[in-house]
Amino acid sequence: MGQVEGKVAIVTGGAAGIGAACAETLAREGAKVVLTDLDAERGEALAERLRAAGGQARFVLQDVTDEARWPEAVTETERLFGGLHVLVANAGIAIISPVVDMALADWRRQTAVNLDGVFLSVKHAIPAMRRTGKGGSIVMMSSVAGLRGSAGLAGYSATKGAVRLFAKSVALECAGARDGIRVNSVHPGIIDTAIWEKMPGGLPDGRNAPLDPRAIAAQGVPLGEPGQASDIADGVLYLASDASRHVTGSELVIDGGLTAG
Ligand code: NAD
Repeated sequence: MGQVEGKVAIVTGGAAGIGAACAETLAREGAKVVLTDLDAERGEALAERLRAAGGQARFVLQDVTDEARWPEAVTETERLFGGLHVLVANAGIAIISPVVDMALADWRRQTAVNLDGVFLSVKHAIPAMRRTGKGGSIVMMSSVAGLRGSAGLAGYSATKGAVRLFAKSVALECAGARDGIRVNSVHPGIIDTAIWEKMPGGLPDGRNAPLDPRAIAAQGVPLGEPGQASDIADGVLYLASDASRHVTGSELVIDGGLTAG
């Protein structure tokens, strides 16, 4: 028996990085997984790989900021797998910029993906969880940047801090006898994914250089190395599973000790 045997899960931003690892881990542990993403090629390829490994997985093309697509994605999940128990609201982007140089369009784009996207996912997933029966688990991907400030990442931190309190508030709204839906946030530190290569903008000191999570982790992470996407997926698995049945409104920090000091 897998740890999430028979549960139906949606993972947003599931084609790459942390989302892909979550999809893979949940499928390996028995969940039926719908992974959604903007990147159809990678998403379809991953779903196919998970099926070839014996899992149940489907890809649905989706921009998390587009509200019109949410009812379709949820309905498609219910049609394919018969309900919804787990939502991993993971899709996110990071834009580095000193605040005075940040274009309003970039601020809004980042907020749209990181915050509006999480709001929309929760708004449309909760009714499906209620239709499925009592219970459910929502996991929102925040960041250590949602726990403390970071120069050059003010806009990103603002979205991730908001996600942290959004999770706690929704947890209170959905904890009652009717729902029993648990809601928690996950706070990764420096994780070795492509998000670092994709960060548009320069370093806070004005240099424009590709960011290397290994070099950053060597300097700032007490355990001395970046985390892997699978380290975050293991935490998400715990929150998605019944092993965390008494955990809601909580925050799981997975950062190699980065914020311990
Ligand atoms: P990634 O760039 O490797 O993967 C992100 C995925 O999200 C991609 O497949 C991308 O296509 C998808 N995506 C982006 N915008 C989307 C949209 N509008 N609609 C649907 N899909 C979209 O990033 P990652 O490192 O795996 O990050 C995943 C989450 O973890 C993000 O929320 C990120 O902020 C958070 N996080 C990452 C780190 C890290 O060090 N990698 C640290 C803390 C938090």
